[in-house]
Amino acid sequence: APQTEKPLLTIRLCQPRGFCAGVDRAIQIVVLALKKYGAPVYVRHEIVHNRYVVEGLEAKGAVFVEELDEIPLEHRRQPVVFSAHGVPKSVPADAKARELFYLDATCPLVSKVHKQAMRHQRLGRHVVLIGHAGHPEVIGTMGQLPTGAVSLVETVEDAERYQPVDPDNLGFVTQTTLSVEDTAGVIARLRQRFPNLQAPAADSICYATTNRQDAVKETADGADLYLIVGAPNSSNSRRLVEVAERAGAARALLVQRASEIPWETVDGIRTLGLSAGASAPEIIVDEIIEAFKTRFDVKVELAVTATETEEFPVMRDLRDVELTKA
Ligand code: SF4
Repeated sequence: APQTEKPLLTIRLCQPRGFCAGVDRAIQIVVLALKKYGAPVYVRHEIVHNRYVVEGLEAKGAVFVEELDEIPLEHRRQPVVFSAHGVPKSVPADAKARELFYLDATCPLVSKVHKQAMRHQRLGRHVVLIGHAGHPEVIGTMGQLPTGAVSLVETVEDAERYQPVDPDNLGFVTQTTLSVEDTAGVIARLRQRFPNLQAPAADSICYATTNRQDAVKETADGADLYLIVGAPNSSNSRRLVEVAERAGAARALLVQRASEIPWETVDGIRTLGLSAGASAPEIIVDEIIEAFKTRFDVKVELAVTATETEEFPVMRDLRDVELTKA
């Protein structure tokens, strides 16, 4: 059969992209718990913000619940896993009161932010949390301290309006998945108004967020379209779309699957930027590249901007499972 010629398309594929060490660990914890304790394994909230991952774990016997009281009494001895985003202190306390067996999959880098918030408080400071209202990580970080001990600041306008009780005794932390640039702006404004504002001992925005944003920034200029694989409720994925737009991509979109790509608007593009948020599995990146290959003569250019070696081990209780895996 005569081959119709497909148009050329260069895909700039970011590396690093996709799963971070915290997400990888959280998924491993659920999988290993299923192996060790059998189904069902309860998971409080989406373990990570990705339907594909959630459905895959459900098929293996994970049961997702919003709150602990949804776990039936007869399953009390089955484990319940807390998500990578972290939980308020009230959640493990509640689990203990209900005599539940829990495994905390909070990312160690989120726990570090919790510790920094507690440290500010120990040193007599009121805590300013820079983050997005309602995000599970923000709920978890605020819930490390008593009600009223943390004030949430989302934007430069919030920083402008914020009226602390004691302006000389403030310490800040941030959500781990914010835009590096936006956050710098908010901090600068707070510092102008409150020169004694204390920083956390270590940066709160995590390595994975920073690396993924840097990679998108470097590849966005001249891209006719930029696709970020991620869920609408994934904070770090949404920030990548903003970074792509700001750094010069003609258009940037968040997609969860290849089927969400608006193909009727994709004709005529020559350069596509492609990356994935920290909760997006690689298999969807592959699916998207394959989908483009059916329509274009694709050349993939790998844009390597950093090498990641971070790996977070699972809790001791589950390590023996891992050893017998092979
Ligand atoms: Fe941890 Fe960063 Fe991944 Fe969040 S995005 S789970 S803080 S490594």
